[in-house]
Amino acid sequence: MTNHLLANLIQTLTSERSHKPIRFDEFLDQIKTQGERIFRNIFQLFHDMIHFYISEVIDEYPGDTESIGFLKYNLDELFINDTEKPFFADRLFSNRLVNLAKSFRLSSAPNKIYVFKGPAGSGKSTFLNNLLDKFEKYVRHDDGLMYEVVWRIPYEEGWEVGPRRLDDIDGKSFLDAFGKEAKDGQHLHPEGVNFFEVPCPNHDNPFLLVPRQYRAELLRELVVDDGLRKRLFKHKQYQWVLKNEPCTVCNSIFDALTERFSIREIFAMIYARRYLFNRKQGIGISVFNSGDEVEKSHVRTNEKIQSFLNEFFQDSNKVKYVHSSYANTNVGVRALMDLKARNIQRFLDLHGIISDEVHKVQDIEERIRSLFIVLMNPDDFENVAKQSGQDSNELDTSMKDRLHEILVPYVLDYNTEIKIYTNTFGEQIKLRFMPHVLENFAKTIISSRIKGRSQAIEDWIEDDRAYTKVCDPDFYLLKMDLYTGVIPEWLTKEDRASLKAEVRKAVLAESEKDGHDGFSGRESLHIFNEFYTRYAKKRPITMRHLYEFFMDEHRHLSSKIPRDFLKHLTDLYDYEVLKEVKDSMYSFNDEEIRRTILNYLVAITHNVGDTFKNPYLNYEEFQVTSDFLDIVETHLMGYSASNYQRSKFRDETIAEYASVTLAREIKVEGKKIEETRQFLEMYAQFTKTARENVLDPYVGNSNFRCAIKEYETPDFDKYDTKIRERVKYLFETLAAKYHYTTDCAKVVVLYVIDNDLHRKFK
Ligand SMILES: [Zn+2]
Repeated sequence: MTNHLLANLIQTLTSERSHKPIRFDEFLDQIKTQGERIFRNIFQLFHDMIHFYISEVIDEYPGDTESIGFLKYNLDELFINDTEKPFFADRLFSNRLVNLAKSFRLSSAPNKIYVFKGPAGSGKSTFLNNLLDKFEKYVRHDDGLMYEVVWRIPYEEGWEVGPRRLDDIDGKSFLDAFGKEAKDGQHLHPEGVNFFEVPCPNHDNPFLLVPRQYRAELLRELVVDDGLRKRLFKHKQYQWVLKNEPCTVCNSIFDALTERFSIREIFAMIYARRYLFNRKQGIGISVFNSGDEVEKSHVRTNEKIQSFLNEFFQDSNKVKYVHSSYANTNVGVRALMDLKARNIQRFLDLHGIISDEVHKVQDIEERIRSLFIVLMNPDDFENVAKQSGQDSNELDTSMKDRLHEILVPYVLDYNTEIKIYTNTFGEQIKLRFMPHVLENFAKTIISSRIKGRSQAIEDWIEDDRAYTKVCDPDFYLLKMDLYTGVIPEWLTKEDRASLKAEVRKAVLAESEKDGHDGFSGRESLHIFNEFYTRYAKKRPITMRHLYEFFMDEHRHLSSKIPRDFLKHLTDLYDYEVLKEVKDSMYSFNDEEIRRTILNYLVAITHNVGDTFKNPYLNYEEFQVTSDFLDIVETHLMGYSASNYQRSKFRDETIAEYASVTLAREIKVEGKKIEETRQFLEMYAQFTKTARENVLDPYVGNSNFRCAIKEYETPDFDKYDTKIRERVKYLFETLAAKYHYTTDCAKVVVLYVIDNDLHRKFK
């Protein structure tokens, strides 16, 4: 058993760890199938890494022609699962990050510093730590495949073949000259030959060692897949493959070797090994804190390698193995955790590197292509200006086109805010709240983070008076829904129709102003804790508790919350629960309504008291009663219709039935009665009224109210069947459709009845 486990462990560790360097011809072989991976620059790698960790993408409105691709990306794998401390990316931030990655996908190396800017307590450093941690894991994964050059220079007697030159290749294709022969050229590196390993300090892609003039031809021969070949030659992001030079160190090693070896032999010394990031060692990923010592010398050397090279080439000037610390993160990520103290100088240095592209390390030139990330607080720029002796406006202008800002504000999406609470206090907290109330707690917290009125919404909404009962006058509640990707169903038809792509873009663009003050992430957890400790025993926690808590003067919370926000939030809550209760009371089925309308259409051609056989219902017998006519007409015309209006309506209906429905639609056009315009209109109107007024017969009914209270108690049996069935149906639907427990359902139905909510929204 133990042996078996150990064997498994070794197996796993081996497949994870064995990244043995491969020969150059094997590397070329890999390009055939994996060229697209192998030729990624750091920006495409970043793009692929982000997509690798997206576990799910949800579009709540598929087919919406005005969609702006503001989707729900599940980034839990990147920021939450398997991390030391989770980071909660809300929908706005997730979209910002995914869009940034997408912009990387198709571009050549953008010459910019990526500044993630957000207030203290927005979780920036957790964000970066988790991102880089997952990046490190990704490049260890097959999907994160990257190669770098490592030279294996044999130093045994008998290996030297004498000087040959680069023009060995002339007149032949590169593969003829090198590739094919290299296969049997394996003998050049027979087992047991001792070699010295010299890694490229810049983590160059091995392909860069192919002389530039041969690369295009080589790729054409190697890559048989037409699509891939086209992309390699046409797409901007692959330009470097044909264009870039290897680093100065590799270049000089190559040159020095050509004096003594054939090209074939030189390529036999070039190996490709996995380029793995290691943040702790500063390889591929380097992160600096403001307190980190500024290194004394920017020049890095390696005594052992240098002395080997000196001895091997018998000349200490041929190859200078020097590089800067930037080389360690070439084709990698270099990040500053903040923009304070010593990091200010590092930031200015980065800016220099980016602007000049090439910098000097002693005598040699170094070219750096890294992803530079900087975290900063909104006011950090002032300090940078001070330290660099510039006016902050001046600095801003000089740096502007080199900086790309990505905002990391406080959470503005209430679903994410709830996720933070459940992550800290456990999923079970949800059980203590009435449906919607936890959500409303999160909305109250978020309301403190939103800034003032929204021009985009004001320009869009036709008439704000339509929303006085469901939204605050500044439309914070509407914004919050839109930030979450929800288009509220309480919007009027007109406003829903004019919610075009431009409007959505404008609203989301405005979101950049929000989330920079108000309750911080830490504060909100603290407030939630206090609230929960106080009310968890209430069972269930209702809107009243929320109101009581936030409005309590001793807590000083209300000053951060917009005026009357809780009142408007309660209005919206009332609207929502009324809708749910009504919807759960509504028990008409479609067939019942169909039969009613069909009987009505025939009944009005008869007198009250008559019995007829309905041709549309298999000649079933039906007796016309004034009660029946009354019920149907109330549904179709409303309660307030007078007798005169009713009889006029009846006459018009008969006339339309005879001349249009029957004479034209059924007889001429061959429609079924259910397909006629008259039937469909009546059907829709009846259903609408039935839903709207479903509560009316019950609100004043004290029997019904008591039955609600006594549901699932022995006393419930004393009510008559009709009420019992009604109440049972109500509770069951509330549970199935809206997740109300019996206790919560009792509370909500009584709340709706006792507060006359059906009248409030008439
Ligand atoms: Zn190199």
